[in-house]
Parts: sequence; structure tokens; C-alpha cells
Amino acid sequence: MLYNSAMISLCRKRYSELRGSYECDCGRTHKFHTAALLEHGAFKRLAAFLSDFTPPLSRIVLFYDDESLMNTVFNYIKKDFRVMCVRTETDKKKLELTALPEDAKLVLAVGSADAVNAAKYRACIDDLPVVIAALPDFSAFGPRCLVRENGLPSTYVVNRPVGYIFDLDVELSGNDKAAVFGTVAARLNTSLDYYAAALLEGGEFCPYLCGEIGDIAAKTVFEVEKDGLSSVALKEILLEAALKLSLIAGMGDFDRGSEVQCAFTFAALEDCKYSQGELQFLFSSLLARLFRAHTVRRKSFVAPPDNNLRLTQIAKLFGVTEMQALRSVRRQLSGKEAALIEYRLKEYSTELLEKINKNINLFRIAFRTFKRMYDDDGYSLYDLAGADLSLSIALAPDVVRGRGLLTALKRLGDLDKYII
Ligand SMILES: [Zn+2]
Repeated sequence: MLYNSAMISLCRKRYSELRGSYECDCGRTHKFHTAALLEHGAFKRLAAFLSDFTPPLSRIVLFYDDESLMNTVFNYIKKDFRVMCVRTETDKKKLELTALPEDAKLVLAVGSADAVNAAKYRACIDDLPVVIAALPDFSAFGPRCLVRENGLPSTYVVNRPVGYIFDLDVELSGNDKAAVFGTVAARLNTSLDYYAAALLEGGEFCPYLCGEIGDIAAKTVFEVEKDGLSSVALKEILLEAALKLSLIAGMGDFDRGSEVQCAFTFAALEDCKYSQGELQFLFSSLLARLFRAHTVRRKSFVAPPDNNLRLTQIAKLFGVTEMQALRSVRRQLSGKEAALIEYRLKEYSTELLEKINKNINLFRIAFRTFKRMYDDDGYSLYDLAGADLSLSIALAPDVVRGRGLLTALKRLGDLDKYII
């Protein structure tokens, strides 16, 4: 893959060097939007970091879903700001009803991806800046948030967060490490998906950024495999890679690969103890094999997707009316549009398969590492064997909109057989 001079070292640069904007060989200017701080003792500097965005003693609303992290963060800023702590909701309506004080100047998101999404959504209503203090999450710095409306996942355009801070001294559990490793390795699928979207649908696309995302993910998978899980630098390697990927995703339109669509759909369908990072990883490795099967053996004719069946199933499974489910189901492609995508899928099958096979091999290595991060070496992951993962894969392109190979397969009617 070709790189321009500005991009060649992105993969090797530290997160702290990813700032400002630069001209890219794709013809556009890319800009890093979010100021980030990740270091040992970072939370000791939290009050100073926040004062870059709002003056001392102003009112901050802290949205959290992790109580111990909230207590840590609160103790560092309680003397310098007037802080109101709110346990976060994930439902859009409840978030709209959450009253913020009139003098609120900033929203601080503490906890999981859910807390970050909720804070982004609620802050946008009052046009307040958002700062994040959480494990790095791939879609956190983008201009969108994923919340639920009556249980049904919905995507909204919001303001990008202005700041990110996390302390390398915070202890990470096995699940936390798996979540961060998952959020990094899953980017192999994001990179493939955006590449496929450019081939199949056209539209704006930066091959350099897309390549960098895949390269950072692959490099980290090999690095963790080589150094082993007992490496003292493990936490730093994982968090640094995850933060770099979040910063790159925050620049552009890279935040909804098919693994993100599937993970969010699954979490809305099932009462699930896994984080988005863990789910994104699990779905990524499944999707790689599904993509191979659907790229290699294409039938000459597949019936178009049955949108009526999809509508009924989405309404039933998410507990909403068909009227509410209606906005989820995508427009049917015309025969000509479908034929063009089908043609491109065959035309580019060599390029796509090369990337898919590379991902399958990387996920094989990554899966072994992923399992061993858990205190029980991944034994509890077998709980997921009873869950309906294929249903989430089949419905995800409708329920959570995105671009890429999975969306193309749905629109061609390939995924209907996974709906029961
Ligand atoms: Zn570019």
C-alpha cells in the first residue's frame, strides 16, 4: 500500500503526536479533533486538563456507569469544580428527561462506551462540550452516538468530544484488558469493511487512513503475541494502540464497521455482560469467516431481502411497534443497483479475499491471546454459544446503519437465511 510522507509514520507515532491537521495524498485535509492525555498519574492533572475547556469552579455534570472509576475521578476534581454526578441512562427519552443544571458548562463521561454515548447525546442537546475519562473506545471521538430509542438502537449526529484523559495507574481487570485488546484487534474488520465499501459502493474514502487502521491493529496483535501477557508494558501497549485508533477514527467516517453494528445490535437484544470492545472482537472473527464464505461461493441469483419479514422481526425482538421499526429497515435496492454491487463483488473478489484471508489468520492468533486475558482463560465465553449471534449479524445492517461488506450482503439478500 502507498503512503504519503505525512502518513508513513502514523502507525509508529505516539498518540501525543496525533494532533493538528495535515494534507493527505487522498486530496483532503484530515484533522485530529480531540485533545488526549494518557499517562501515569494523569488523573492528578485532571482538574488542570478540564480547566482548558471550562474555568475552575464552574459546574460540571459527570455521567457515569462505573461507580469505582466515578469515585476516583470525583475525588480529583471536587475541590476545583462544582460537580453533579448522574448515573447514566442508555435510553434516548430518559436522557432527554435528565435535567442538567442551568449553569452546567461541561459534561464528563466516566465508565463504559454506554456512558460515553449517553454523555455525547445529552450534552449535544444543550450544546455543552464533552470530555471522556474511560477506557479508549473506537467510536468515542466520532461525530455520532449510539443510544436506544424504546429499546431500538439509533444513531444520532452529535458534537465530537473535545478532550480525553485516562490514567495508566488505574488497575485493569482481565475483562478490561480483553475489552481494550478487542477494540484494537476488531479494527482489522473495520479496515476491511471500509475498503470493501469503497470498492462496492464508491463514495468518499481515504485508503491511507484505512490502511493505517489495519496496520496498527495487526502490529498490536503481533506485539502482544510476541511479548506475552505478563509483559509489564502490556497495559500501555494496549491503551496506546486503542487511543491512536480512536483518534484516527474521530477524524473521519470510520466509526461504524460491521463489527460495531453487530455488537451494538447484540447488546440491545440480549441481556449481556460483555463490553462493546469484547463483542466487537467476537463478531469480527465470526464476520471474517462469513465474508469468505459469501465472497467465494456466489450464486448467480439470490432473492432480494424480505423487508417485511425484517420489519416484523425487528418489531417483535426489540419490543417496538412496526411503525417504530419502520425507520430501521433500509430501502430495497433496484434490480440495476443490486446487479452492479453483485458485479463488483465478483470483479474485486481477488482483492477482497486477499484481505479477508489475512484477517482470518490474524484473528486466529488474536483469539488465543484474547481468551488468555480472562481470569478463567476464556472459559466463560462459552456462555455465548447459547446466544443467537447470527440473528444480530443478519439484523445489524438495518438496525445500526453503516457501510461495508455486511451491509452490501444484506442488501443483496444474502443474510435473510439467518433470520429465524
Ligand atoms: Zn486521506
